[in-house]
Order: sequence, then structure tokens, then C-alpha cells
Amino acid sequence: ARQIVQTDLAHHPEGRWLDYQTAARLLGCYGVQVAKAVPVDGADRAREAAALLGLPAVLKATGPGLVHKSDVGGVRVNLRSAEQVRQAYREMAERVGPEMTGALVQHMAADGVEMIVGGVAHDVFGPLVMVGPGGVTAELLADRAFRVPPISGAEAVRMLGELRCEPLLRGYRGRPAANVQALQAQIIGVGRLMDDLPEVAELDLNPVIVTPAGAVAVDVRVRLA
Ligand code: ADP
Ligand code: MG
Repeated sequence: ARQIVQTDLAHHPEGRWLDYQTAARLLGCYGVQVAKAVPVDGADRAREAAALLGLPAVLKATGPGLVHKSDVGGVRVNLRSAEQVRQAYREMAERVGPEMTGALVQHMAADGVEMIVGGVAHDVFGPLVMVGPGGVTAELLADRAFRVPPISGAEAVRMLGELRCEPLLRGYRGRPAANVQALQAQIIGVGRLMDDLPEVAELDLNPVIVTPAGAVAVDVRVRLA
């Protein structure tokens, strides 16, 4: 993890948002599962990647200035054929414009509860870890639990217990219960990362999709400073 961070800072001394692949490798060092994503630079490549990863697929625009992809029409989910993925790339490139220099292709995760797990290096408190309901409406709900790492298993359980959205994880209205242990493991892993790496200014796993089977982050942003 230290090597990944130092190599990146050697090339970009002022710090920057890591690309998806590098961020995923960094989180992998702490056992935090991030969805595989294949970077592509054109519609035909996108179609090939989708055929390789398995359908349905998700297509996401990438580019140096692109952070909130859905806001600019840069995310398409549930693409059911490789040909649909190719078509979606064309439409997306048109909609997003020259800011889009490529895309990521992912396999579509199973339906689950969307959570956000985040980390921030606070000026006063030092590293902080946050969890709350995720997805594109995360900011609207103001339902979050914060802790200073290290975070124990018991502490991760308590963090989830503080959330108003917690019943969703336990299986709301006949839905199956989500794998909260897998989510807790993500929280603990992010805590260890934030504790180890003061160069990480902010980190966002949004969303982590929590299903009965496990928890996987399908979007990850890490900023070094
Ligand atoms: P951004 O946050 O930049 O708008 P995301 O990558 O978080 O883009 O995607 C937006 C939404 O699309 C997510 O909140 C999620 O609902 C859905 N989504 C993204 N990737 C996947 C995936 N691999 N499987 C299932 N749903 C996904
Ligand atoms: Mg996101």
C-alpha cells in the first residue's frame, strides 16, 4: 500500500484523484473488495470487454475532470447485450462530450442495499471513517456515523447500529437480510487504511452494494495529498 501511494506521489507531487485501477489495488491491500472494471477507449472495445466480463454490464464514462459521473449522463446500468454496450458508449460519448476520454466496463452487481463507506484526513481529528446510506442520494439523507480509527469489530457493529437506515440492512419488508459482516469488514479495512496512510486526504466507496452474499464497492474515489 505504501509503495502504491509513494509511486503515485512521486509522479504527481501535488497529489491527485487516483484512477480506478490504482484505487482498487490500494483498497485490495486492506481486503476491501472493489468491483473489477475494464478500462476501454472506444465503443468496440467496450463491447468486447462486456462480452468478457459477463452480462448484464455497466458502462461508466472516465476522463480527467469527470468525478460525479451520473450527473452528466456518464453511467448506464443493466446493459443486457454486448451490442447494447457498444451503442451505449456512442450515446454516452455524444452526451458527455470531449470531457469523456474513455470508459470503464463492469459486470452489473446483484440487487442490494447501497451504502457509502468513506474516509477523510481531518485537520483537527486526524483520520476519520464514515458510514451511511449510499448511492446518488447519499448527501440528501444526512444519516452518517463517524469514528476515529482503529475500528474494532464491535465498533463497526455500533456504527451501523447508529444509522437510521439500519433496518434496510436487516431485511426490510420481506427483502432478504444483507451480509452486514461483509460491510463491517469493509469499514474495518478502510479504518486500517486511513490509519496507515496519512497521504490519503479523502476516500469514498459509494456505493458499496451489500447483498445477502457479500459487499462490493462498485465506485471508488481516493485523493492523495
Ligand atoms: P457516480 O457516483 O460517479 O455518479 P457510480 O459509479 O457510483 O457513479 O454509479 C452510479 C449508480 O449506478 C450507483 O449508485 C449504483 O446504483 C449504480 N451502479 C454503478 N455501478 C454498478 C454496478 N457495477 N452494479 C450495479 N449497479 C451499479
Ligand atoms: Mg458513486
